[in-house]
Amino acid sequence: MVSPVKKSPAKRSKTSPRLCLGLLLAQLLCLADAIAAENVRLQLRWLHQFQFAGYYMALEKGFYAQAGLEVDIRPGGPGTPKPIDLLLEGDVDFAIGNSGMVIARMQGKPLVALAAIMQSSPIVWIVRADSDIYTPHDLAGKRVMLMPAPESAELLITLAREGVAHDRLKLQQTSFNPQDLLDGNTDAYNGYISNEPFWLQQQQLPYRLIKPREYGVNFYSDVLTTREALLQQRPAQVEAFLQASLKGWQYALENVEESVQLIHQRYAPEKSLEHLRFEAEQLRRLIMPELVQLGHMNPGRWRAIAQSYQDLGMIEGPIELDGFLYKGEATTDNRLLYQMLAGALLALLLLGAVALRFARMTQNLRMEVKRRQLAEQELRSSNLKLERLANTDRLTGQWSRLKIEELAHNEIKRAERYDFPLALVFFDIDRFKAVNDQYGHDVGDCILTGVAHRIKDHLRDSDSLCRWGGEEFIILMPHTDLDQACLIAEKLRALLAAEPLTGTISVTASFGVAQWQPGQGLGELVHCADLMLYRAKKLGRNRVERFSPLDTQPLM
Ligand code: GH3
Ligand code: MG
Ligand code: MG
Repeated sequence: MVSPVKKSPAKRSKTSPRLCLGLLLAQLLCLADAIAAENVRLQLRWLHQFQFAGYYMALEKGFYAQAGLEVDIRPGGPGTPKPIDLLLEGDVDFAIGNSGMVIARMQGKPLVALAAIMQSSPIVWIVRADSDIYTPHDLAGKRVMLMPAPESAELLITLAREGVAHDRLKLQQTSFNPQDLLDGNTDAYNGYISNEPFWLQQQQLPYRLIKPREYGVNFYSDVLTTREALLQQRPAQVEAFLQASLKGWQYALENVEESVQLIHQRYAPEKSLEHLRFEAEQLRRLIMPELVQLGHMNPGRWRAIAQSYQDLGMIEGPIELDGFLYKGEATTDNRLLYQMLAGALLALLLLGAVALRFARMTQNLRMEVKRRQLAEQELRSSNLKLERLANTDRLTGQWSRLKIEELAHNEIKRAERYDFPLALVFFDIDRFKAVNDQYGHDVGDCILTGVAHRIKDHLRDSDSLCRWGGEEFIILMPHTDLDQACLIAEKLRALLAAEPLTGTISVTASFGVAQWQPGQGLGELVHCADLMLYRAKKLGRNRVERFSPLDTQPLM
């Protein structure tokens, strides 16, 4: 709310037109606010006392005003019609009732219970401590005060549950005056736990309480109530009033002393501060704010209460509570629940989506890894294939020239390092051209392959056979000196010449042998052997010639 700015008359005359306009607007807003505030009337069920603290505090602390409500709180008490009747007749908008209102509802009265402030009823019997009355059974034969039904319902049910018939009691109409207990005019006074005991304490009269709750009779009390029509016409107002009232109760219970002082000052000056404090303490035990949500109502308990009234014959027909209990709060709760559920669902969905995405990514990654592994495998095998192709001669299956160069390179290094002997045999099939010419190229190929295999079969594992080119072959012999190599070459020559390779075709070959000399490369070693091969050809073929360092020239 905007409050007008106070100014002195002298200054006001100098106020600028813009400020004037602002002030006017502020005034108008205040007025609009006042007009907008809705008037509602609340009927209490007794005289002003702490029993209604929450409503006073809601008013005094501005909770009603904040909710756009201007609330008129009306006290009840002797001589005032029942709050529920005032409510039903439209004299008030809200009323504080007790559990008995469920009877009116069953009778078709359009009452709606908004909130039960007291989770247990404050109604008790008060007996003198010097009496012999301890339990409801002890009331038999005694003068017992009772309020008219339905106010007395809890006490009547207690008697019924304990099997104490009414005709065994000397029933008295309540006098609303605990002095009767003091004066001995009654044996059991029907009162409020929050009221009369205080007065008796003041009078120093020891007393005992018989509480229906201790006999399993537990009724709601001080139920904030409205009319069905009002709820239908102005649901927002009802909700606003309920929430502001509960907020007031919360405040009152959290600030008992402040509330007691305020009630004493503004509402109940005739009630002492001590009495109000006593009342606050007693009522707090019935409101149970630490255990139960303020105003909480349980449909099952309302049904049990209605059942109790039915047992007493106060309700006829089936118990029907539809529409009796205000659902607004529950709806709000549900909305919150739905919101929470929706939030949880959304979070789950998000989590699910993220998990799904991760799963997909993992799956893709796995597939990619698999694909790469396959590709690598393929690459490896095609590399191997390529290597094989590059390293082996396609026709004879023996090492290629490329491979023997690599092998020789390594062997020369080893020979160099460890001073091993290393020999090389170079051989060439004799007059092979003639074989081709006579039998054809294909047969020539078979002979080439046959020569290679026969030679290979008789070589040591450590020797390497290579097709150097055409019908020329090289044998690399590690750990072999010239003599040994010549012996082997001679054996191989004889082996070839000994018997035909295929059918009747037999070939011979000429061999040149050389031993590696320190400092030589493969080219030089091959050259030395080649010189000797050339010499073998010259000397008539089918023979082995050995290189000696003196042999720098082939036999011309
Ligand atoms: P020599 O070595 O005894 O002096 O006589 P030659 O007839 O063997 O000599 P030359 O080197 O002149 O001939 C080699 C022949 O080897 C030529 C060619 O027809 C044949 N030749 C080379 N490579 C192949 C091959 O892969 N397959 C077949 N079938 N013949 C080949
Ligand atoms: Mg030849
Ligand atoms: Mg040749």
